[in-house]
Parts: sequence; structure tokens; C-alpha cells
Amino acid sequence: MVDACIFCKIANNKTQSTTLYHDEQVTAFRDTHPVAPTHILIIPNKHIQSLNELLDEDKSLIGHMFIVARQIAAQEGIHEGGYRIIVNTGPDGGQTVFHLHLHLIGGQRMRHPLG
Ligand code: 5GP
Ligand code: ZN
Repeated sequence: MVDACIFCKIANNKTQSTTLYHDEQVTAFRDTHPVAPTHILIIPNKHIQSLNELLDEDKSLIGHMFIVARQIAAQEGIHEGGYRIIVNTGPDGGQTVFHLHLHLIGGQRMRHPLG
């Protein structure tokens, strides 16, 4: 756990969040500044700074994050209408919290372009 990292704190239950799912590998919780009716973040419990730091040994972890995203989308009732998964990476990618996370966004028709 990285003490200065807000998402490490959430994963370790050291700060408040609206947690929807937690297991030994991942945690999912609602974004405090939702951009759509459903906006959930799915994170690995271990600190991985960004996609750039993902290792070969993290393959099953990243797969599990997507499975959890799919389960939560169903739980939230947005799986049939569809949703968007976003992984912002680095400053140009719009990443502001440097602990890897999937954004699960839905509940409305998404607009293009992404940028
Ligand atoms: P990024 O811009 O790094 O892809 O996304 C970071 C996301 O984390 C933003 O959507 C922001 O609203 C959310 N966020 C930042 N701090 C907190 C926090 O303390 N709690 C929760 N639940 N979300 C946060
Ligand atoms: Zn962290």
C-alpha cells in the first residue's frame, strides 16, 4: 500500500467510499464526480501506477478487473443498453489518480468523439 495514494486507501478501507464490490484482488466503488448516471471505478488492490507499469504477471488480475466490470454493469442494470470502459493513462491520457483504474460509465447514450 502506498500511503499517499487515495485509491490504496479505498482498497484498504482506510477512507470512505461507496464500495460496491471487494475481493482479495480488486475493489469497485462509485466515482465522487460522476460524468454519467452510472460511474464506477474498478481498481486492483495492489498499487499499479498506470497501464504503463502493468506486468506480464498481472494478466489474470487485469482479466479479473474486466470480469468484475461486466458483473457490476449487470448489477447496475446497464449491461443491455451498453456502457463504456475507459483507462486513462498518463497526463496526455487524462489520468489524474496514479493508481490503475477502469472507469465503468453508463446509464446514458455516450457521445463521440471520446476526446
Ligand atoms: P482519472 O482522471 O485518473 O482517469 O480518474 C480519476 C477519477 O477518480 C476521477 O473521475 C475522479 O472523480 C475520481 N476520484 C478522485 N478522487 C476520488 C476519491 O477520493 N474517491 C472517489 N470515489 N473517486 C475519486
Ligand atoms: Zn495506490
